[in-house]
Amino acid sequence: MTFSRKKVFDNLPISYWIDSITPSTYPSLEDNIKIDIAIIGGGLAGIQIAYQLSKENLNIAIFEANNIGHGASGYTTAKITSQHNIIYSKIREQLGEELAQQYASANEIAIHEIKRIVEENNIECDYTTQSSYVYAQEEKNLQKIHDEVKAATSLGIEASFVEDIPFPIAIKGALRFDNQSQFHPLKYLTSLAKIISEKGVNIYEKTRIIDVEEENNNYILTTNNGKKIRAEKVIISSHYPFYNKHGLYFSRIYASRAYIIAIKAKEKYPGGMYINAEEPARSLRYVNTPSGELILVVGDEHKTGQGEDMNKHYNALIDFAKDIFTIEDIPYRWSTQDCMTLDDLPYIGYYTANTPNLLVATGFQKWGMTNSTVASIILKDLILKGNSPWQDVYNPSRKTIAASTKKIYYCKC
Ligand SMILES: Cc1cc2nc3c(=O)[nH]c(=O)nc-3n(C[C@H](O)[C@H](O)[C@H](O)COP(=O)(O)OP(=O)(O)OC[C@H]3O[C@@H](n4cnc5c(N)ncnc54)[C@H](O)[C@@H]3O)c2cc1C
Repeated sequence: MTFSRKKVFDNLPISYWIDSITPSTYPSLEDNIKIDIAIIGGGLAGIQIAYQLSKENLNIAIFEANNIGHGASGYTTAKITSQHNIIYSKIREQLGEELAQQYASANEIAIHEIKRIVEENNIECDYTTQSSYVYAQEEKNLQKIHDEVKAATSLGIEASFVEDIPFPIAIKGALRFDNQSQFHPLKYLTSLAKIISEKGVNIYEKTRIIDVEEENNNYILTTNNGKKIRAEKVIISSHYPFYNKHGLYFSRIYASRAYIIAIKAKEKYPGGMYINAEEPARSLRYVNTPSGELILVVGDEHKTGQGEDMNKHYNALIDFAKDIFTIEDIPYRWSTQDCMTLDDLPYIGYYTANTPNLLVATGFQKWGMTNSTVASIILKDLILKGNSPWQDVYNPSRKTIAASTKKIYYCKC
């Protein structure tokens, strides 16, 4: 099987999402400016944070190193779900009921918030409601599925156990969440960008922030072309937090890469969004395009820098897809990475316990559709009210047992 490479962007294969939108053309920053809030990064996090704050009487600007939506958000799978594989039973067991409830409520509300924003603004972004499934193929994971149904249900999520999924895959059982959704992430993101820019938020593209300094209770940001921004508050939503003076994020985040092929199949896709409980991950959703249905087959993740030849990863996905579908074409393939944390929970809140005017949203664990929306709500609440009902579970300075590493981890930063 040979790939048909549709286009190449920065020497990387372009995603269907980027290929199917009109590129944005916001100016770059050419003057020194003074503003209330500087948002660094124009992905789903940065744009949604600006959207939430744009209703306030604040002078806000977004600084994007390249083009908005061309980071991880432009190469994602875009399942909007509170079903983050197996998570609620883990949080409940390791961190307790209260934090598990915060995570569940935050992500459930995020699903509704995206829907509300789409409807309120008539955003055409191919938004559809779907059920979401995690299926177990190995006996040892079946109990995890049952535990997750129990944990999620007790936290108020519409979860159930099902014995089958509509594919010729031998499974032991699956976890199903109803009323989840999927969309075209960049139709959503670019529409929101237009809305906020009409409300007075300035968006600067091709404007990379290369330095952050503190001066008299303000932050001074320097751009790649030497312009200075004085801001009262700074939000770092640059995916990987590049500011290393505080927070030690480099020691508690790693990047994980995964691959996507977009196939045309003879069979009609039965609907729904699917992921396995095993490794390597295998994830599925469909997209309706003007030239017919595409099925996204996703997975083969690895720590960034520790993968094999990319073709091996794509071929593994093709082999998996061939067992389920009759592949007629593969018009797109692409890959991207996301930021992962030590305890599988994002870092959303104050950059450190001692920086009330410097905030961060990162570590979305490959579940950044709802988590970036959660970030937009938490950061708005912290900025406007000084607290959020979900701040503890997402607190970047949390003192917690890093469950995944089994090490006790105290953040003194
Ligand atoms: C293969 C894969 C599949 C995924 N599928 C799903 C899914 O189905 N559902 C889901 O919920 N999540 C999914 N995710 C996760 C989701 O895509 C990400 O968590 C999310 O897109 C991250 O958004 P972001 O705004 O934080 O980052 P980005 O979209 O990367 O945006 C950050 C922006 O900051 C800019 N930037 C960086 N440094 C600077 C700087 N110094 N100055 C100015 N700008 C800067 C970048 O150019 C970039 O545009 C997936 C992730 C992967 C890897």
